[in-house]
Amino acid sequence: MPRVLIIEDDAESRRLISDLFRRDDWNVLEANDGDAGVELALRDRPELILCDLLMPKSNGFQVCRTIREQLQPTKIIVVSGRDYRVDRTSALQAGADEYLLKPITWELLSSAIERLLPEIPRRSRPKPAAERESTPARIRFWGVRGSIPVPGKGTVRYGGNTSCVEVRADGEIIILDAGTGIRLLGLALDKEFGPRSMKLTLLISHTHWDHIQGLPFFSPAYNEKNVIRVLGYEGARAGLATILAGQMETPFFPVSLRELPSHLAIEELKEAEFQIGKVEVRSKFANHPGICAGYRLSAGSGSIAYFPDNEPYEPLKLR
Ligand SMILES: [Zn+2]
Repeated sequence: MPRVLIIEDDAESRRLISDLFRRDDWNVLEANDGDAGVELALRDRPELILCDLLMPKSNGFQVCRTIREQLQPTKIIVVSGRDYRVDRTSALQAGADEYLLKPITWELLSSAIERLLPEIPRRSRPKPAAERESTPARIRFWGVRGSIPVPGKGTVRYGGNTSCVEVRADGEIIILDAGTGIRLLGLALDKEFGPRSMKLTLLISHTHWDHIQGLPFFSPAYNEKNVIRVLGYEGARAGLATILAGQMETPFFPVSLRELPSHLAIEELKEAEFQIGKVEVRSKFANHPGICAGYRLSAGSGSIAYFPDNEPYEPLKLR
């Protein structure tokens, strides 16, 4: 089994890259700073090293120089989030064999490995059925505005609808927030699925109007074949189900939440880490009035964070 050493101080990046190699049957060693990386490299002499540039203790350039002096056959791929020509040149001069830009995909890695280590047999293993059949990962922004929809000439480029993001990964369709953008998403899903039923998960960040107001106009909720799971945290003054039902009560809306024909279940979240199918979800509360959560979704193909309405500054002090 070929060995790879991943030297990366960011735990999340390290985990994602390690997973890619493990899936391809590599023996993975990990180090979280430059010094630990050099030590492991000299001890275990892996065929390949992946090294970040900006790390505590020894940085990536230093790691490349030390390893190149002492371990000639080992191939080094520098992985960096920075696309500066000077970084690339310096890394190659320091002894790196390849310089790849984040985000790292297996396609990028495997073509580099093929070039650098042609003697390592290519693993053309068929993918497991679940992986093969799942929809390719994608993100689509259906609504990006805050407070209130703003149609008009000034918002043509990104649209005038309020928050709604569609994520497809590992066979799941996950909808982040139900602002007015969810209406168009609903129409698109109806068109795509036709007579087939849909299984959707709606993750609500918080219950301010601009994050829930599209739900009464989400057409898949009006089809009895569809299963919709709505997840979110309890609000500051009432539970999630009460608030979502409240905006559909008479005299605000003619159809109550209870009357929606789909199998719509509202679940109040208690944990900060949970799964939606194979997708791992981690949440954090935002600095925003009431209860507002942001979510990180981690899937086989990568991870994204959705963190709306966070106010990353101290409250202004009035004198
Ligand atoms: Zn808000």
